[in-house]
Amino acid sequence: MEKAPVIIVGAGLAGSLMAIYLAQKGLAVEIFESRPDMRKTAISAGRSINLALSDRGILPLQEVGVIDKVMAEAVKMPGRMLHSVEGKLQFAPYGKDSSQYINSISRGGLNQLLMTEAESYPNVNIRFNQKCTDINFDTCTITTEDYTTKAIKTFTGCTIIGGDGANSSVRNALENEIEGYKANVDWLEHGYKELSIPAMEDADFALEKNALHIWPRGNYMLIALPNADGSFTCTLFFPYHGEISFESLNSPEKVQAFFEKQFGDAVPHLVNLQEEFANNPVGKLGTLKCYPWIHSDKAALIGDAAHAIVPFYGQGMNASFEDCRVLNACIEEHGVGNWSAAYKAYQDLRKINGDAIGNLAVENFHEMRDHVADPTFRKKRTLEHILENTYDDYHSKYSLVTFQPAVSYAVARDLGNQQDALLMDLCKEVEDVESLDIPAIYEQLKALKASV
Ligand SMILES: Cc1cc2nc3c(=O)[nH]c(=O)nc-3n(C[C@H](O)[C@H](O)[C@H](O)COP(=O)(O)OP(=O)(O)OC[C@H]3O[C@@H](n4cnc5c(N)ncnc54)[C@H](O)[C@@H]3O)c2cc1C
Repeated sequence: MEKAPVIIVGAGLAGSLMAIYLAQKGLAVEIFESRPDMRKTAISAGRSINLALSDRGILPLQEVGVIDKVMAEAVKMPGRMLHSVEGKLQFAPYGKDSSQYINSISRGGLNQLLMTEAESYPNVNIRFNQKCTDINFDTCTITTEDYTTKAIKTFTGCTIIGGDGANSSVRNALENEIEGYKANVDWLEHGYKELSIPAMEDADFALEKNALHIWPRGNYMLIALPNADGSFTCTLFFPYHGEISFESLNSPEKVQAFFEKQFGDAVPHLVNLQEEFANNPVGKLGTLKCYPWIHSDKAALIGDAAHAIVPFYGQGMNASFEDCRVLNACIEEHGVGNWSAAYKAYQDLRKINGDAIGNLAVENFHEMRDHVADPTFRKKRTLEHILENTYDDYHSKYSLVTFQPAVSYAVARDLGNQQDALLMDLCKEVEDVESLDIPAIYEQLKALKASV
């Protein structure tokens, strides 16, 4: 058994969950978190206010025994509610029926719950206000700077896990340490701004509660996810520059006119639109790919530190939790303390899948903003629905990614894209998908599955 503690940098979603896994193995864990304790200080949990949790994220939360507490505050979303420019609504289920759904949860609430759970183990200690600024991999020593006093300290552990998000200090240190290290971010030409729809007076929901609302408008879109208190958090994904962009909506009058024209049915509920549009920051959206994720027995990256992705599949956190589950399984397989073998196995299993979900997420951006409202896409969705309800072993691409954690992201991408191409071609040629030969299509899909 290790004597020196495992160091985790970052008490975010992945870092806190990983600490619970390691604590349950009896390992001592020291977490260094740059921000103050969000349970005591009113700070933003960072980025989106709420998140979609789905089966890949649920599985690890089940494994460590916290899922019931998490689900107590979740709002089920069994499908998308599409809002047309005219305000017409159309509900499109995500899965074959209402038993398949994703869950809207509070980012801050979940992060706090995981920290509290981690600290309930006597062998876990979280040090807040401690920003990792440097790492000596030879001695497994991190240097930290105190957020308030600016005091510099060092701490030595047996190994270092980087759960410190997209701008990871551990990844930066690996980049300095390992010759030929590769790290690249592909930025989208779109950013995002959060807006809100408050709960109605009786704490009721102003829009359908059990849905992820989308206003798809080609080059941009607005989405809204429900919160347990009756409010919705909306996110506008919008170009930075151009004719219709954050840059061009540069006066309250333009913002008002634009929203009334494009998102007319949302406007009466966006009661703080002007204030929020003027004051809320524009967040950046990028896909990070890096390699390696590990350094011998010294370090491994998890979560966004290894693979920050754009949020259009709602999978960043889910993928991060899946990293923790896989890393834990690799530690179990190779024995506690055999870090280099466990890390190597983890990287072999996860890197390919981190890349795959990164690609899928960018592809889904195009699907959500352009295709969701496209007639052929809608026919394809109807056909997928028929197939899902007729054949238990057929899963659409969305379902493979979201509801089938036993299928890796890489397989979900390859199989899903081939299925999509086949079904879109078929749907282009018919008015009514009911006229298609469903058993014959199923046989073609089975052949595709066998070939992936
Ligand atoms: C707009 C938006 C919407 C999203 N929606 C979804 C969704 O619906 N579903 C989903 O699954 N995912 C979603 N995501 C992705 C999700 O937010 C991330 O994948 C997830 O937060 C990754 O968790 P993490 O713990 O790796 O990183 P983070 O949550 O970023 O946590 C990193 C932690 O490390 C700390 N830290 C950073 N640097 C240091 C340092 N130098 N020293 C010490 N501590 C440090 C930070 O303070 C933070 O606490 C969304 C992302 C965005 C931007």
